[in-house]
Amino acid sequence: MRIIFVTGNEKKLREIREIIDDFPIPVVSMREAGVYTEIEETGTSFRENALIKVRSLPLMEDAILMADDSGLSVDALGGAPGIYSSRWMGADTPYSEKNAELIRLLDGRKGEERAAHYTCAVAVRFPDGSEDVFEGIMAGRIAETIRGTNGFGYDPAFFYPPAGRTAGEMSEEEKNRVSHRFQALSQAKEAVKQYLLKNKIVF
Ligand code: IMP
Repeated sequence: MRIIFVTGNEKKLREIREIIDDFPIPVVSMREAGVYTEIEETGTSFRENALIKVRSLPLMEDAILMADDSGLSVDALGGAPGIYSSRWMGADTPYSEKNAELIRLLDGRKGEERAAHYTCAVAVRFPDGSEDVFEGIMAGRIAETIRGTNGFGYDPAFFYPPAGRTAGEMSEEEKNRVSHRFQALSQAKEAVKQYLLKNKIVF
C-alpha cells in the first residue's frame, strides 16, 4: 500500500514530504506511480477542489489517493483571492506585484480590519471508495509592508501574530510546524493510520 499524491507539481510533493516526514506508508507522485490525469479546478471551495483532484484517478487496490488545495482569504476583500489565489491578477504575474497590490488594497485599514487566513484542504480517497477531507487554517493579517524572502507566494505579505513576523520571515521549519498545510496533513495522516489498522494492513 502507498499514497499517491495527486499533483503534477513535484515541488509540492517535496514540500509535503518535508512537512510530514513520518507517513506510515510511502508517498509517491503521479509520475513515480506511472499514472496521469488532467485536473480542472472547477470547484467553488477548497474542499471541492481537493475532492475533484482525488476523484480524477480511478480507485486502486494498492493505493490511497491524496490531494490538496489551498489559498489565502482576506476578510476585507470578501475572502478574495481564496480559491483563485494562484490565478489572482494572472497566473504569471510575479508575487512581488500581487503582494504589493494586496497591501495597497488594504491601505488605511488597521488591526483586525487586516485579518486574513490561509486554508488548506486535504482530500483522501481510500481503495474502498470512502473519502474524507481535512482542513487546516493559519490565521493572521495582511502586513503593513512586505517583509522577508522565505516561503513562497503571499508569505512576505502575510503577518503571523504568534511569531510576530511575516511568514516570509519565518524559517521553513517554523512555518511547517504551524501552517494550514501541516494541520490538514496531520489529520489526513491519522485517517490513513486508522484505515490501515481497521483493514489490518501491515505498515
Ligand atoms: P494550489 O497549489 O492550487 O493549492 O494553490 C495554492 C496557492 O495559494 C498558491 O499558489 C499561493 O498563491 C497560495 N498559497 C497557499 N498556501 C500558501 C502558503 O503557505 N504561502 C503562500 N501562499 C500560499
